[in-house]
Amino acid sequence: MLMILLDRVSKVYGKGMSPALDRISLHVEPREFVIVVGSSGAGKSTLLKLLTREEKPTSGKIIVGGIDYDKLKDKEIPYLRRRIGTVFQDFKLLPNKTVFENVAFALEIVGTGKQEIRYTVPRVLDIVGLKGKEKRMPMELSGGERQRVAIARAIARQPKILIADEPTGNLDPKHAWDVVKVLQKINEYGTTVLLTTHNQEIVNKLKRRVITINDGKIASDRAQGAYKG
Ligand code: ADP
Repeated sequence: MLMILLDRVSKVYGKGMSPALDRISLHVEPREFVIVVGSSGAGKSTLLKLLTREEKPTSGKIIVGGIDYDKLKDKEIPYLRRRIGTVFQDFKLLPNKTVFENVAFALEIVGTGKQEIRYTVPRVLDIVGLKGKEKRMPMELSGGERQRVAIARAIARQPKILIADEPTGNLDPKHAWDVVKVLQKINEYGTTVLLTTHNQEIVNKLKRRVITINDGKIASDRAQGAYKG
């Protein structure tokens, strides 16, 4: 089974506007690590928003993790979002909660029990390399550490897919690479990862499948390791 299937998906935001996405077809296998690149305005965010169902396509078919979006009812969207973790450039942490509480909160809102939270939070903080920082406040952390809290929060619910939209955009090269290494590790544990980045060095070093979007279309789709810069 495919993890992500897009069949001739278009998105037109308003009457008379040119399409933000123009008949995009795309297959992503389970456990793949896919990098999406393209200049500003190319359509990358639109693609991610279609996957998280923040936006609906104007036409075309989307199936993610066996869920056909045409058949998805509004009340099933929270279930879908539990299966898709998201991480953004600006971390979106709760400033008045500790590291532990930030991750725990993502579990509380979906009704996870206290005992499971006490078990899960340290585990995911360990995965992202933040063991021992449970009691810190976001303000006391570096940008890279904050982003890793955001990743811990995103993976706490064990999503099938992790979408990381420009997660290194606010980080210096060292912290950026720390974050990318965490994404790689999560991918090795079995989660499909979709990463958008403007950072050419990351693209070159990762040697993964690279999809280039240009003007709402897939301009190229290079297999893992084939990227030569
Ligand atoms: P990227 O993420 O690659 O920068 P976007 O998906 O944000 O590209 O944008 C693709 C195109 O769609 C751009 O022309 C942008 O102006 C337009 N667009 C994005 N979001 C909206 C929106 N909510 N309403 C109208 N136009 C939008």
